[in-house]
Amino acid sequence: MNATLQDHVTQALRTGTLPGLPDQLYIDGQWRPAASGDRMEAVDPGTERPFAAIAAGAIEDVDIAVTSSERAYRDVWRHAPPSQRATILRKAALLVRARAARLAVVETLDCGKPLSESLEDVETVARLLDYYGGAADKLQGDTIPLGGNFVSYNQLEPVGVTAHIVPWNFPMFSMIRGVAPALAAGCTTVVKPAETTSITALLLADILSEAGLPPGVCNVVTGTGAAVGEPLSRHPSVRHVTFTGSVDTGRRVMRNAAQHIASVTLELGGKSPAIVLADCDLDHAVEDMLEAIYLNAGQVCSAGSRLVIERGAHAEFIEKFSARAQALTMGHGLKNPAIGAINSHRQLDKIAAAVDGARARGIRAVTGGGRATDPDSGTGWFFQPTVLDDVPAGDPVVQEEIFGPVLCVQIVDTIEDALHAANGTDYGLAACIYTKDLQKALGLARDIDAGQITVNQYFAGGIYTPFGGNKRSGFGREKGLEALRNYCRVKNVTIRI
Ligand code: NAD
Repeated sequence: MNATLQDHVTQALRTGTLPGLPDQLYIDGQWRPAASGDRMEAVDPGTERPFAAIAAGAIEDVDIAVTSSERAYRDVWRHAPPSQRATILRKAALLVRARAARLAVVETLDCGKPLSESLEDVETVARLLDYYGGAADKLQGDTIPLGGNFVSYNQLEPVGVTAHIVPWNFPMFSMIRGVAPALAAGCTTVVKPAETTSITALLLADILSEAGLPPGVCNVVTGTGAAVGEPLSRHPSVRHVTFTGSVDTGRRVMRNAAQHIASVTLELGGKSPAIVLADCDLDHAVEDMLEAIYLNAGQVCSAGSRLVIERGAHAEFIEKFSARAQALTMGHGLKNPAIGAINSHRQLDKIAAAVDGARARGIRAVTGGGRATDPDSGTGWFFQPTVLDDVPAGDPVVQEEIFGPVLCVQIVDTIEDALHAANGTDYGLAACIYTKDLQKALGLARDIDAGQITVNQYFAGGIYTPFGGNKRSGFGREKGLEALRNYCRVKNVTIRI
């Protein structure tokens, strides 16, 4: 009999882990230890205790994985009928849904996020697999009307072996966001999960294999960024690198890929503004912004981390928002609170340092502002939902990504000031505008320098709409049909009859 969600949760809370978790690399359809035999711990951020061990891969393992992916690309996957790719991806979606409970509990143990969020991530993974499964047999080229005695056509080809360097905030989702369109296009994949959140990547590779994916088409090499990510992004046989993470590492990955003229998609986070105009439905904006900044404890690349608000709405918004933020429950993710743990001690220190620095500069935390623990156990890496009010535009907490549950409020007097504030950082990932005035909304949507603009609902869009950044937020687009372009190249064939 299949274990229920409650069975998994009960077992994980009682024992601190789940039995049978994968603990090796997944290469060429097989589990294998790291060549060095080295291991790393997986730690539950809600308890600070290790709950599993994983293989600590290195350059030798990367070589074996890329060679396997190259062979699988050349001999198998690029020739696989697109309808077969579609069938495999859709079958994987079914298997993901069938294993949702276990995947979600493991994701929560590894990430710290609330169980309800992990369950949503699992469903999003299944939708991505369905969506790109649906696209796999529709990647059509076109013809060029040269006239005379010529026939000319463009066909889409897969780019080859692709590397996927994945962050720790949405491990399953970020992996499949890149891997599903790559597989649909006929590319093979080598995945490097973040060192603090590797286990669901291994479970997903296993599921893809069970769905019929041939050996080598999706390999997973766990390990650190320096030991695995670095040689993977430098590998001469990798034709495209999809990277999500920090600006500094993104810059490094781009430099590495440039050695072999490989293309890159870089998703490097942001400092995204939510503009609240005084005419908006304020109660709705308050509720929506709670999710925009506190989803996954603010560890979201596109989080609404800056509130740019018209002075007329400021006092009421802050009063209502602070009351709601202070009432949010916090605790171990498996108990499904509103806010779970911060993924690592290092990240918690980074958040605390940013907030402490702001306070030392005289900025007021009207809500939260400090570290916390799971109230039941007194352990874990937590940070209170925080609001820093009336922050000057040049302050580091406005300019730099904190990647935690910290909302920075910027007060403006005119719509021009709002636009100026919205565009006033080096990032350009997302922005939301709350207003009932469509003319203002469309004007701002035109002028804000960001890859994704929403109006009156922060996270509107989902997997179907292209997503990616401008400026230091990176380039290239993921999600939607747009993502398929990363994994296809155009070949033109022209024939004189
Ligand atoms: P990071 O950019 O170092 O890590 C992201 C991924 O890159 C991980 O898989 C990591 O192992 C890998 N990596 C690290 N060094 C590498 C290298 N030299 N070559 C190739 N891959 C490498 O990010 P981090 O250190 O985990 O977090 C630091 C900050 O980055 C966070 O505080 C946050 O601001 C930001 N961040 C953003 C996102 C996002 O979604 N855009 C995700 C994670 C972190």
